[in-house]
Amino acid sequence: IKGSRVFSFENITERLQAKAHNTILEINLNAIVHNLNEYKKLLKPKTKVMAMVKAFSYGSGSYEIASLLQYHNVDWLAVAYADEGVTLRQRGITVPILVMNPEKSAFEAMFRYNLEPEIYSIKQFDEYLNEVEQYRAKNPSTDSTFKVHIKVDSGMHRLGFEQEDIPALLAALKENNHVKIVSVFSHLAASDDSKHDEFTKQQKRIFDSVYSTITDAIGHKPMRHLLNSAGISRFAEAQYEMVRLGIGLYGIDPSATMQQKLENVGTL
Ligand SMILES: *Cc1c(COP(=O)(O)O)cnc(C)c1O
Repeated sequence: IKGSRVFSFENITERLQAKAHNTILEINLNAIVHNLNEYKKLLKPKTKVMAMVKAFSYGSGSYEIASLLQYHNVDWLAVAYADEGVTLRQRGITVPILVMNPEKSAFEAMFRYNLEPEIYSIKQFDEYLNEVEQYRAKNPSTDSTFKVHIKVDSGMHRLGFEQEDIPALLAALKENNHVKIVSVFSHLAASDDSKHDEFTKQQKRIFDSVYSTITDAIGHKPMRHLLNSAGISRFAEAQYEMVRLGIGLYGIDPSATMQQKLENVGTL
């Protein structure tokens, strides 16, 4: 940048210069692997692990973390939005990926990139089934089954099917035999807090009951998963076929005994 002194172009160059910071966020990948293995010690050998890598793996990185977890044989990954899953697929991640907030506008990308939606309401499921039909009409040679995960509301009251919504879900499912339920799951509201253990147990009972209603009707038994990190360390009896490990991977667990076993992941 060149000009007469009076124009004070140094003000422009200052603005154009990349802001340089001395602050560095260091992510210790070995600590993530260590933490994964600490939780695995609490699991039965057959219990599968879905690793939560939503929101840039709680701020730790996207592809780097997913790739590490894939290498260490986690069974599933979960992201919040479809675009996070698309990015992982484009970078070469091949493990199954659950998308927790699948938006209607993203269904087609999810078909193309083999991303599996959380289905949490009948309205959303109808929209999904419509898109499946359109996609199959446009791609007549596709032989894929469309895998979905059914979210049950067992008391968190955020998203999910309640017992009384299940007949509508089953009816919609009957209309479309290209869609397969691979799992039924629910989320605990207070698995970290012993004050609420009675509530947590009630959530489990509601989950069990909704699951039976579903399996009685569909004639096969999808996987079940209920536990988040705190749930894994506090409610080992509710592991079912899979658990959803989130914040514990990144070094944080509300249970004091578990916290002692975890290694610190992020250092600023
Ligand atoms: C984030 C999330 C988890 C993981 O919870 P942590 O407490 O971080 O282990 C599990 N299930 C669902 C549905 C989530 O959104």
